[in-house]
Amino acid sequence: MLVDSFGRVATDLRVSLTDRCNLRCSYCMPPEGLDWLPKPELLTADEVVRLVTIGVERLGITEVRYTGGEPLLRRDLVEIVAATAALRPRPQISLTTNGIGLARLAKPLARAGLDRVNVSLDTLDRDVFVRLAHRDRLQDVLDGLAGAAAAGLLPVKVNTVLMRDVNEHEAVPLLRFCLERGYELRFIEQMPLDAQHGWRRDRMVTADEILGLLKDSFDLTEDDPRARGSAPAELFLVDGGPARVGVIGSVTRPFCGACDRVRLTADGQVRNCLFATDESDLRSALRSGASDDDLAARWVAAVRGKRAGHGIDDPSFLQPARPMSAIGG
Ligand code: SAM
Repeated sequence: MLVDSFGRVATDLRVSLTDRCNLRCSYCMPPEGLDWLPKPELLTADEVVRLVTIGVERLGITEVRYTGGEPLLRRDLVEIVAATAALRPRPQISLTTNGIGLARLAKPLARAGLDRVNVSLDTLDRDVFVRLAHRDRLQDVLDGLAGAAAAGLLPVKVNTVLMRDVNEHEAVPLLRFCLERGYELRFIEQMPLDAQHGWRRDRMVTADEILGLLKDSFDLTEDDPRARGSAPAELFLVDGGPARVGVIGSVTRPFCGACDRVRLTADGQVRNCLFATDESDLRSALRSGASDDDLAARWVAAVRGKRAGHGIDDPSFLQPARPMSAIGG
């Protein structure tokens, strides 16, 4: 088991399959992109599957979420999902994606064993999309969402980051859009994980503000907190339910005490927290012939050192050297 020194058990594995992305969301990376990892440094599909297998078969991982960068850019994604679905005990398999290309890939992914998706959608306005993501791809994202629902990748969840003076006015239209289509919307507070180090606390749209914006138009009642478990989103029934909306207050309402996540970067580093400042290198060990036992032992040691909290509020807080796109969101 992957247990840390505070007794938390990591069962939810987030695997970044690439640091590349076809959008340039300003809370994540600069318009010109980043220096991408050289291809030889990326785990191959076989290497990803070997590490995921160790996680599932030996270390108690029960959920595998593929992410990035943009995971749909990996040509071998369907193959990776199929190999993950063949593991026993079979983990839950999900994907976090910007949705570009999902209209075409949703069915093959569902057939391969993908259970569900989280699609990122920050705006319904084409001009705002271009301003925020520096690419004119809103329609592709909307088509991807519809494709995911048609392929039965349910519940389709939508992730939204609100930014002041950019898309905060869209909280209500975005929720209406999701309610009408049966998508579950989650608003995520913007975190200090952008490559440009442009995050400022006083510019962040907080969970309280998001709820305030929604409460003007909807009746929100807190869902049974026991249903939340270790999930990052606080859930609210909308107009009496059953539809729900989530708010992930990563900064102002941290949930580190219930965290059950561990991350594997696209270049094979274990990170025990999004905000960890160190990583454990499984790729070098794997490529120099380490046994499954050895890799599992390194992974256990990496999780044991997990800190109590992300510490964004500590005066000594340091933003991780790697941005969200390289860590895997
Ligand atoms: N490309 C995929 C996508 O767009 O969903 C997966 C990777 S992306 C890094 C995963 C999630 O992280 C997205 O929902 C994105 O909005 C979110 N994200 C990225 N940077 C963030 C930040 N600084 N604060 C909060 N969420 C962020």
